[in-house]
Amino acid sequence: MLVVFLIANFATQYQDFINSPQKDSIYVALTRKDINITEFAENPVVLWFWRTNADDPMTDSLLKKVPMERNFYLSAVLRWEALEAKTYDGAMQKLDLATHFDTLAIENFLSRTALDLKNRQYRNVLSSLLTAPFLSDFRNQVLLITNSFILVFAAVVLCSLIYVLVKFLYYVPVLSHRLDIPRHYFLKGAVSFLILLIPLLVFRNLYIMYVIYGLLLMLVLHPKEKNWLRFGVFLILLLAVGSYPLNRFIPFLQGTSKSYQLYRLVNYDGEQRIQAENNTEKELMALALKQQGKIDEALSVYEELYYKGNRGIAVTNNLANLYLLYDEDAKAEELYVLALNQNRGEPYFNLGLLKLKNIEYLASSEYMEKARLNGFTSIARDPVDITPGNRTFYELVLGKNFEMPRFINPIFLIPLVFILIVSFLRLKLSPPYFCAICGKAVCRDCVEEGEEEGTCKDCVNKIKSTKSSDIEEDLRISMSRRNRVLKRILVYVINVIIPGAGLVYQKQDFLGLIVLFLVSLAYIPHFFGGLFVKPSNWICLTLAPLFAAATIILLIISYIASFIFLKGTSHAD
Ligand SMILES: [Zn+2]
Ligand SMILES: [Zn+2]
Repeated sequence: MLVVFLIANFATQYQDFINSPQKDSIYVALTRKDINITEFAENPVVLWFWRTNADDPMTDSLLKKVPMERNFYLSAVLRWEALEAKTYDGAMQKLDLATHFDTLAIENFLSRTALDLKNRQYRNVLSSLLTAPFLSDFRNQVLLITNSFILVFAAVVLCSLIYVLVKFLYYVPVLSHRLDIPRHYFLKGAVSFLILLIPLLVFRNLYIMYVIYGLLLMLVLHPKEKNWLRFGVFLILLLAVGSYPLNRFIPFLQGTSKSYQLYRLVNYDGEQRIQAENNTEKELMALALKQQGKIDEALSVYEELYYKGNRGIAVTNNLANLYLLYDEDAKAEELYVLALNQNRGEPYFNLGLLKLKNIEYLASSEYMEKARLNGFTSIARDPVDITPGNRTFYELVLGKNFEMPRFINPIFLIPLVFILIVSFLRLKLSPPYFCAICGKAVCRDCVEEGEEEGTCKDCVNKIKSTKSSDIEEDLRISMSRRNRVLKRILVYVINVIIPGAGLVYQKQDFLGLIVLFLVSLAYIPHFFGGLFVKPSNWICLTLAPLFAAATIILLIISYIASFIFLKGTSHAD
């Protein structure tokens, strides 16, 4: 029965083996080829020892066949070797073995996918995407939740920022025209234009640009555009508040929180010790001690928990398993029976094993059947412990006390709230904004009274100078066409630089923002990769091929969609 613990606790057993005199004799015998390594085919410790001391390819294939408990560290060692491998096949073999040692490590899955993409093995990519066992693991869930949240948050911010910048580009002639102090003199808005560019040229800070231009735009934006800007600001505020769990998730991933130590203790092979403070921590500690083969210590922690009234199903069942190890069958049976009245199959299964041991076959098969009915089947020949589920770890990591979000400094949110407030004030420059014919910025003083839609005095003079109503109409059409063509070129140029921005420029805000969001998702890993959280002990092949593939797909979709929408409107003109 002890074999189970020894395999579960690889590190301790490996250490013991290294310190034992047995090691030297085995090493000498293997080197002299007195014995073949295949004789140790079922002993992962010796296999691993021989693997680290001799370059024998046989060991890897033998190791691949030994059933083993999850071993995060050995898996990491193999990924490290895969990093150094020179060929695709060499690296893939290492990754296969790495996956055998730890089927749940997301690093294995990502490494394989990246390697397949890099070597254009697209069929393998598809098949591995369909099987994603790593999703059930708590650490991977936290990793994916945290980084997806960061990605979406950053994409929303970037998207809203581009929106503001494009709207600013559209309205900057109006703003410089109106905010010009010596209005309509020789500089014609040049001074205020330069002043308006200060956030862009001097601060070169995206946040400052967002706040200043966001506020300025409130003076000119159309109500619909204002709503989209408000929506962006509101979403940023909402996500900033919603980032609260990241306070706990990030330290967990970076391995600095106690909850991570406990998680590692239970799920990875290792020998750390932790001062358990509450019952949940003690429970995890007891389970870890048992997995490490420290059965006496585990027993005393479980007994302490149980006799102080902590009689949850896991404590009761696992304590009974320990009693069974010490051949205290009566005690064990009593506890199993206590654990039965709950909806878990493990106590039934364990009790079935106990009955089997006592040659009570009928009772045994009855309990085994009940275990099946409660959703538990196993081919194990040893009692099964109830291990903590993800829910336990979520409760442990999130804790009970609320903490102010720290992912974003709250001070940065105040100007955003201010933008929202200002957006509801009736501050607005009065139209007209642009000359209906030539498209330049105008104000009431510049437009000719009596003309429809606001036509500037220059245009009116030019048209009037023809003195013939036929030519007048032609001139009007040709002047406005020139304006439209120039604008069209500008829209296309902007859209080439950032797909979706052209749509926003020509006021197709909804479609434009959707495309901009996709583009932001594509660009963030490249330009703001530092935002993402890298877990501790992260050993993985470079993910560049994965990101490149995602970026290419997103950009192709964005370009195609935005140009189709742009073209659609040109026909409508
Ligand atoms: Zn004009
Ligand atoms: Zn004017």
